[in-house]
Amino acid sequence: MEGKDAKKYVNEVIEKVRERNPNEPEFYQAVEELAESLIPVFEKYPVYMENAILERMVEPDRLIMFRVAWIDDEGCPQVNRGYRVQFNNAIGPYKGGLRFDPSVNASIVKFLGFEQIFKNSLTGQAIGGGKGGADFDPKNRSDMEIMRFTQSFMNELSKYIGPNVDVPAGDIGVGGREIDYMVGQYKRLRGAFEKGAFTGKGIDVGGSLMRKESTGYGTVYFAQRMLEDLGKQFEGQRVIVSGAGKVSIYAMEKAVEFGAKVVACSDSGGYIYDENGLDVELIKQLKEVEQKRIYEYIDSYPNARYEAEKSIWMLPCDIALPCATQNELDEDGAKKLVENGVYAVAEGANMPCSHDAIAVFQNNKVAFGPGKAANAGGVAVSALEMAQNSSRVSWSFEAIDNMLQEIMSNIYDKSVAAAKEYGSEGNLIAGANIAGFKKVADVMIAQGVI
Ligand code: NDP
Repeated sequence: MEGKDAKKYVNEVIEKVRERNPNEPEFYQAVEELAESLIPVFEKYPVYMENAILERMVEPDRLIMFRVAWIDDEGCPQVNRGYRVQFNNAIGPYKGGLRFDPSVNASIVKFLGFEQIFKNSLTGQAIGGGKGGADFDPKNRSDMEIMRFTQSFMNELSKYIGPNVDVPAGDIGVGGREIDYMVGQYKRLRGAFEKGAFTGKGIDVGGSLMRKESTGYGTVYFAQRMLEDLGKQFEGQRVIVSGAGKVSIYAMEKAVEFGAKVVACSDSGGYIYDENGLDVELIKQLKEVEQKRIYEYIDSYPNARYEAEKSIWMLPCDIALPCATQNELDEDGAKKLVENGVYAVAEGANMPCSHDAIAVFQNNKVAFGPGKAANAGGVAVSALEMAQNSSRVSWSFEAIDNMLQEIMSNIYDKSVAAAKEYGSEGNLIAGANIAGFKKVADVMIAQGVI
């Protein structure tokens, strides 16, 4: 390894990842994005190459895949596939959400689990990286079907998790209802009430105040720091927030609280647009309480526009917060946003911007906050939930909000500082990757080759 060229080393690792993991494009995308920005780190500290840190990081500790058989409301057996990737526990128990969506496969779970390692490291808390889920579509399923599916899922997953081992939470398609069903089944299987085995729980069983709001609020707190450095603020700005789920709703809420005008949001069917600003309270009511689709917003605001199957990124705005899903914003979307005057983008979702979209933003000097850093508020408050569970206390909303703001601000500072130190000033992707990586890498060296 003596005198090894860092660029060559990174390319070799990426190539090996492709060979070893055929047909996992989302996973390569996440690995490439991270690895390329680490070249200056390997040049400065060859010890990481000597210890094969990157090769070890791209190989999960384990990937668990299992059958989930359950009975639907018609009495017919159904079969889905469940996953949990336990990627890296160098700095703490595996921690990451569970996603229920038909698109879930090994590639998606691995990209999410891999990103989670660095995101969790950036929060400054003692949590490792993991992720999981199932290719189950919760849409149009009854409460009882969701319960039976979730219980069957937990029958298998319960063997691999625990407060000091692996602590799942929600993600796409998994919210408070699903987590509570999991808590119930896990308790029954274990014969013990292990509060700390999940986060995102209901408040009455040890959940944390503000967990629901944390990812969306955190994204806006992070974006606020980006704006400050540009000499701007949310006040009076036109903001587009894609999605209308857990992250999106609270990103919209906080942006409006900061004086912005949220002009559009979406779901997988289309978007709603109102140049005068959307009524976020109504969207919350429709999505969280009534479980409706966003086109139903138009019934209350006939002057707003609903467009089915059209890209939300064609609309004009100053700030864009993609908060729906991976690769939802492609090169064309990025070009149109730039043409329409966007100057800041912060990712509330995981990897929502394609590689080419990010290049468009970077080439046009659009301030860009990567998901790893900008959406870390959710997992940060999950770790605060774990801390409350361990010490059997409950902190107030205000106390947690203050901690969240501090954590997001620290993540921003760390990312800015690392980017500057390694010659990519202003590049928060490089900064977040480097800062997240270095902490885990140093601990891995200290713990030996395992
Ligand atoms: P939800 O399931 O609550 O919401 C997802 C939303 O995105 C839904 O409104 C969904 O619409 C919409 N959507 C899905 N695909 C598309 C698409 N192609 N175009 C437009 N809208 C789409 O998920 P979350 O809000 O929890 O998660 C959103 C993202 O944030 C994910 O990338 C997740 O990994 C990430 N994230 C979530 C965290 C959390 O705490 N929940 C923490 C950190 C990151 P529909 O209802 O039609 O499917």
